[in-house]
Amino acid sequence: MTETVTNWAGNITYAAKELHRPRSLHELRGLVAESPRVRALGSGHSFNEIAEAGGDGVLLSLDAMPPEIDVDTTARTVRVGGGVRYAELAREVHRHGLALPNMASLPHISVAGSVATGTHGSGVGNGPLSSSVRTVEIVTAYGSTGRFTRGLSNWFGGAVTSLGALGVVTSLTLDLEPAFEVEQHVFTEMPLEGLDQAACETVMSAAYSVSLFTDWREPGFRQVWVKRRTDQPPVDMPLAAPATEKMHPVPGMPGVNCTEQFGVPGPWHERLPHFRAEFTPSSGAELQSEYLMPRKSAVAMLRALDGIRETIAPVLQTCEVRTVAADDQWLSPSYDRDTVAVHFTWIEDTRTVLPVVARVEEALAPFDPRPHWGKVFTMPAAVLHARYPRLHDFRALVRDMDPDGKFTNAFVRDVVGN
Ligand SMILES: Cc1cc2nc3c(=O)[nH]c(=O)nc-3n(C[C@H](O)[C@H](O)[C@H](O)COP(=O)(O)OP(=O)(O)OC[C@H]3O[C@@H](n4cnc5c(N)ncnc54)[C@H](O)[C@@H]3O)c2cc1C
Repeated sequence: MTETVTNWAGNITYAAKELHRPRSLHELRGLVAESPRVRALGSGHSFNEIAEAGGDGVLLSLDAMPPEIDVDTTARTVRVGGGVRYAELAREVHRHGLALPNMASLPHISVAGSVATGTHGSGVGNGPLSSSVRTVEIVTAYGSTGRFTRGLSNWFGGAVTSLGALGVVTSLTLDLEPAFEVEQHVFTEMPLEGLDQAACETVMSAAYSVSLFTDWREPGFRQVWVKRRTDQPPVDMPLAAPATEKMHPVPGMPGVNCTEQFGVPGPWHERLPHFRAEFTPSSGAELQSEYLMPRKSAVAMLRALDGIRETIAPVLQTCEVRTVAADDQWLSPSYDRDTVAVHFTWIEDTRTVLPVVARVEEALAPFDPRPHWGKVFTMPAAVLHARYPRLHDFRALVRDMDPDGKFTNAFVRDVVGN
């Protein structure tokens, strides 16, 4: 490539032969049809090689395509282009008095890239972001167009959280709901000691979206972030104390980068993400891993991590615990089970971090962890097949849609076992 293209974190330099930015569907279809190997690149916020096209491949960024955001206020849906990011989508949806049910910790990411990896926010009643998708429109390996619709397409279960392996997503239609307001309250210092599964369920269900943060230097949580919809009951958080200053989940980072706190009500899209669109999210110098497990094991899982906190803490910036409701996307890390998600923001040193990632995976193994597809993990295909019960169905879908493997990169081959 004439230009060097890296992911957001800078730990992956894409080896693709060329990067193209098509300006129209016609141009995009031509590029896909004539290239032997293709990968769509979203906003590049994944931490592994999932978006890599390979040395003989072509990367396609959709950020020069017309930024389609068509809100249908009667149907309460939005049709959103394959290059659009959540920040611009959320502003436009809100302008129409409507809302997405949930958001990830940052609005900087593309919608197509996020749902392709099973990206999620938090909330015992909130599925991953992919659960809002009702239609996926793609350019297939032959350069033709195709569409999967919830309730109509047999293969819809494989079509949203698709790791980018079925084609280039040109638009998604998402379900919306009436706009709502959220207050964000941050509490500090909640001990792990004495927290049983029932108490943990109470904490995680205390509001629409709850996150616990720990640096694992002590057996407890430094911060508890509670996002309460103003149309739902007040928050009761007896186990932790209200914060007295604006907090950032990464110790030492400025609170100003984060969305409003102290219970000031505001629009859903300015409270559900932790980080403000106009600032660098998280710390900016980092790697991330995340594992999703049955929610009923949350406390046992946290105690297992507490048992290795002296291994984790030296390479950790912050660890976040969230919940995700079960959904039915085959490759969703919350497929068919209500889930607790444990996320690690590591230091940016891959060589030092990888052995700790492997140690974490060993400690979590009894809890059947499914890795986040966009983050760093070490599990081989055999383990992934045991943990993702519909991976074989997804493999059949990939073979059917793309028999020559135009969209199959090394990451997908490793995962799917193609
Ligand atoms: C600071 C930070 C915070 C994060 N917070 C969260 C969080 O709160 N929750 C969470 O779950 N994750 C989180 N993530 C992970 C992030 O959401 C995922 O990595 C997500 O995939 C990023 O979207 P992207 O557009 O950058 O995807 P990319 O990394 O660009 O691509 C990911 C995959 O999507 C495919 N893809 C992208 N666009 C298309 C398209 N148009 N058609 C077909 N395939 C496509 C790519 O080929 C690739 O396979 C965070 C990441 C960062 C850096």
